[in-house]
Amino acid sequence: MNRIGIAFDIDGVLIKGKFVLPEGVRAIQRVKAAKVPFVLLTNGGGTTEVNKARELSEKLHTEIKSSQYSNLLVIRKMILSHTPMAHLAKKYSQTETESVLIIGKDSCKKAALEYGFKYPILSGEILAVCPEVWPFKHSVNNYEPTNIDRKVGAILSFHDSEDWGRDIQIVCDLLRTGGDLRHVVEPKHHTHRRRHYIGQQLPIYFSNGDFVWSNNLPLTRFAQGSFLHALEGVYSRLSGGSKLKYTMYGKPHKPTYDFAKHAIDTYAAELYGADALQDSGRLYFGIGDNPESDIEGANRAGWTSVLVKTGVYEGGKHEANLLVDNVEEAMLIPTENRKKIYQQLFQEGVLVAKKDYNLPKHNEVDVPNLHVIKALQSLESRGLVHVQFSWQYYYYFLNDAGIEYLRKFLHLPTEIVPRTHIKTAKAPGVRPGREERPRNERRDGGDGYRRRDDGEKKEGAAGDFRPEFRGGVGRGGPRPAQV
Ligand SMILES: [Mg+2]
Repeated sequence: MNRIGIAFDIDGVLIKGKFVLPEGVRAIQRVKAAKVPFVLLTNGGGTTEVNKARELSEKLHTEIKSSQYSNLLVIRKMILSHTPMAHLAKKYSQTETESVLIIGKDSCKKAALEYGFKYPILSGEILAVCPEVWPFKHSVNNYEPTNIDRKVGAILSFHDSEDWGRDIQIVCDLLRTGGDLRHVVEPKHHTHRRRHYIGQQLPIYFSNGDFVWSNNLPLTRFAQGSFLHALEGVYSRLSGGSKLKYTMYGKPHKPTYDFAKHAIDTYAAELYGADALQDSGRLYFGIGDNPESDIEGANRAGWTSVLVKTGVYEGGKHEANLLVDNVEEAMLIPTENRKKIYQQLFQEGVLVAKKDYNLPKHNEVDVPNLHVIKALQSLESRGLVHVQFSWQYYYYFLNDAGIEYLRKFLHLPTEIVPRTHIKTAKAPGVRPGREERPRNERRDGGDGYRRRDDGEKKEGAAGDFRPEFRGGVGRGGPRPAQV
């Protein structure tokens, strides 16, 4: 079973504007071939997941699914900024008497309907009932008048507002009336009090808090975060200093990472069976180009953050766990490091790694701790090692098939065996479940291999290997029963 899950950012990681990054194509092909559960996680939106997946599939020349159904579970694979709001559909707009206001372009309503909201409405549909709501611009011909008997239960900002003035007015109207559109559009409901007072809040959700974005112009363009800022200012003035309450989605916010984690887990369950749904040992990777959204979000969620240099990141300080040139490099453990890990494992027959994905170095092998865990997970998935987990440490035990595999990989002769496979007098050893931490010290002080016999010294195997004859008792001690 694959024990990792990946969330790929799209822009700056797989594509860059109109251009496709070839490393991105290869990375996706690689994870698909290795059956790694993954999602595409972007702060973009304003379209449906199906359309975005189709667009990306064409660019990458490989099929990207937006979602699929498995045993009544929806497995979401394309996560746009507003996709996590899908779970709100159960809460709002399910009865004949309730609707939700969607802020964003018309395609956002289509997305809302796909999420299961029964009665999503757009600002234009309110103006189609009563143009005086925003009496400065009348382009309501394309909209059907909404049913004002339905109360608006929540306000969901899916994407950039197309008309800030109109939308700020309508949101404040709904806040002042508790979502009752009749009190917004019917003159008979006039009260002096309501004119100036916001006494009731409706829940408001934003899909993305980015303040600005860039296009080809010299100055930045305002994004959803700026709209929110303007709305907050007007609301504060209108309410006499109250602070607008809202829930924020999108990277780097928690609801989005919770959603992505669940999406990865359901994907794993589809690939590997229901047990994979609750796999507490899974490693989650967030790969992106933006330190403020991708890296910040992955770090906050306790994931391993991987920063690529192919997007907006231009060097300098960053908080990422791994910095790589491109997304394909993130998929790989450098051959040199893999070799070091395998050498150590073969030599000792057992390898211990702390469950800390962000430890810069393993305590015995001079590579990042994460590389050790990943390399050993890969061996475990192929049945070449047995793993035990105790007191925050992984204990990996090489089995016979693993010995054969590593012997070939390291080009070692058959007489060389791991310490744990040498028949010795009783010796103290690693006792999984008891030892709180591995012992660092080495008895022989070298990096030698042990041989089955007590013959003479022979030529080293490969590279800087210095295989030794059995000259002492290894610290492996008695082999665990499972090996
Ligand atoms: Mg990006």
